[in-house]
Amino acid sequence: MSADDLSRSTAHRVVIVGGGFAGLFAARALRRGDISVTLVDSAQHHLFQPLLYQVATGILSEGQIASPLRDVLKRHTNVECVLAEVVDVNPAGREVVALRPGGERMTLPYDDLIVAAGVQQSYYGHDEFAQWAPGMKTIADALDIRRRVFGAFELAETASDPDEQRRWLTFAVVGAGPTGVELAGQIRELAARTLRSEFRRIRPEDARVLLFDGGTAPLASFGRSLSGKAAAALQEMGVELHLGSIVSNVDARGIDVRDKANGTTARYEAGTVIWAAGVEAPPLATALAAATDAQQDRAGRIQVEPDLTIPGHPDISVVGDMMSRDELPGVAEVAMQAGLYAGRRVKHKVENPGAREVGRFRYHDLGSAAYLSRGNAVVSAGPLRFAGLPGWLAWLFIHLAFLTGYRNRLSAVITWASSFIRDQRHERTYTTQQIDQLRDVYQAQSGQDRPAAGPAPRPAPSNTPERPARSQ
Ligand SMILES: Cc1cc2nc3c(=O)[nH]c(=O)nc-3n(C[C@H](O)[C@H](O)[C@H](O)COP(=O)(O)OP(=O)(O)OC[C@H]3O[C@@H](n4cnc5c(N)ncnc54)[C@H](O)[C@@H]3O)c2cc1C
Repeated sequence: MSADDLSRSTAHRVVIVGGGFAGLFAARALRRGDISVTLVDSAQHHLFQPLLYQVATGILSEGQIASPLRDVLKRHTNVECVLAEVVDVNPAGREVVALRPGGERMTLPYDDLIVAAGVQQSYYGHDEFAQWAPGMKTIADALDIRRRVFGAFELAETASDPDEQRRWLTFAVVGAGPTGVELAGQIRELAARTLRSEFRRIRPEDARVLLFDGGTAPLASFGRSLSGKAAAALQEMGVELHLGSIVSNVDARGIDVRDKANGTTARYEAGTVIWAAGVEAPPLATALAAATDAQQDRAGRIQVEPDLTIPGHPDISVVGDMMSRDELPGVAEVAMQAGLYAGRRVKHKVENPGAREVGRFRYHDLGSAAYLSRGNAVVSAGPLRFAGLPGWLAWLFIHLAFLTGYRNRLSAVITWASSFIRDQRHERTYTTQQIDQLRDVYQAQSGQDRPAAGPAPRPAPSNTPERPARSQ
C-alpha cells in the first residue's frame, strides 16, 4: 500500500514510528480488525539491543539478534512496513513527514499516531568524541566495535614500538551501567581465553581493560549488594575499575579523565575507546515537541499523560524509551508493555466508539538482569536478589524468552553452548574498510530533498545515564 493508497483507505489508519520493542508490540496489539497499520522504521530490522555486546565481541552474528520487520510481521496482514526516516509531524493535517532512502520526501496520513523511536547515544554535549569512541545502539555500532576490538590485537601484534603495542592492548570503556560492564567483561574474557593461544608476539591475556564511571559503584541501580558482587567479579576477571572518574576528552590515542574527588586530570593511552555512558532522545522528539507543544525532560524525552498520549493530542501516543512518565527506566520491559498498551488503547477506541476509554498505563516491574561472565549474572526481581549460576540461568531464560524468532533462539543456544564450553567465538570477521569509510546508502546525497524545516535540531545535552536498570 502506498502513501496515496493509505490516504484513500477507509479503515482506521494507524501510523507507528519505530519497530523496536515498543513499536513491534503496538503493531502486534493492532492485529486484525478494520485497522490499517503502517510501521515506519529507518532500519529494515527489529533489533534485540540487549545482545549487541555479544555481536561486538564475536559471539553472535548480527542476523541472530536482528530480524527483518517484514518477516516478523508477515502474518499481520493489516500491517505494512515502510523503510523511511520520520523527520516531522503535522498534527493539524494528521500526517507524518518521512524521507525515503535517498532523501525523497513522503507524507503518511494517520488517524492515530504511535511514536516509538527510542533514544540515541549521548556524549553530554561532546559529539566530537563519537569518532573516537563509538556508542552501542545499532548493528553498525556493534560491527564497528568488533572491527576496532579485534583489529587492536592485530595492530599490537605487528607494532615494533613497545608503547604503541601497549596502547593497542589497552581498551577503555566509558560508563559502568549494564552495557559498559558487559562489554568490559567480554573484552577481558576474549583476551584471556579465546585469543590466548593465537598470537605469537603479544600476550592477549595481558590486555588492560579500563572501566570508567562518574559514580561510586558499577551497576549502581541493582543495589549495593549486587553492585558489590559485580565489582568483585569484574576485578577477578582483571577489569580495572575507575570510579568517581569523569572523561573530559577523547582523541585518537586515548582519553583524559578528571578525578571527581581531587579535580586532577590523568591521561590514559588507549587504542580502543567505547562509549556506554548516556542516552538522549533523537531529533524527532524535538520536532514532535515543537509541533505539539509537548514538554521534554532533561534527556529530551516527551512527557506523556497517564494514557501515554501527548497533552492536548489524544491521537498521538509516545511509547518506549522516547516517553517520559513516572521516571520509568529506559528498558525493554517498559517499552514492550507501553507499546502493547498503546496498541490496545487505540484498538479499543476504534472497535468501541463512545465506550469508556481503557484505564491508565500501569507498569508491572518484572526485574532486572545483567551478565557478568560465563556462568555469572546478577538478577534483581522484586525482593529477590541473586547472582552467580542461578543469576546466569535466569539471564539465559529471560534472553531466550524475548529474543525474536524461534530460529534465532535455537541458533543462539547452540552458539552459546559452543562458545562457553570451548572458548570459541565464531563471529570475528570484519573488513578494514567496513563501516566508517562507506557512506550510509540510505543517507540523502544532499540537503535539497529534505523538507523545508529540515531535520530537527539535536536536543540539549543531558546527563541521563545509560539505562538506570534493566527490567525483563
Ligand atoms: C546495548 C544495549 C543493551 C541493552 N540491554 C538491555 C537489557 O539487558 N535489558 C533491558 O530491559 N533493556 C536493555 N536495553 C534497553 C532496551 O533495548 C530499550 O529499552 C528498548 O530497546 C527500547 O525500545 P524502543 O522500542 O522504545 O526503542 P528501540 O528499541 O530503540 O527502537 C526504536 C526504533 O525506532 C527506529 N527509529 C528511530 N528514529 C526513527 C525515525 N526518525 N524514523 C523512523 N524510525 C526511527 C529505530 O530504527 C528503531 O528500530 C539495552 C539497550 C542497549 C542499547
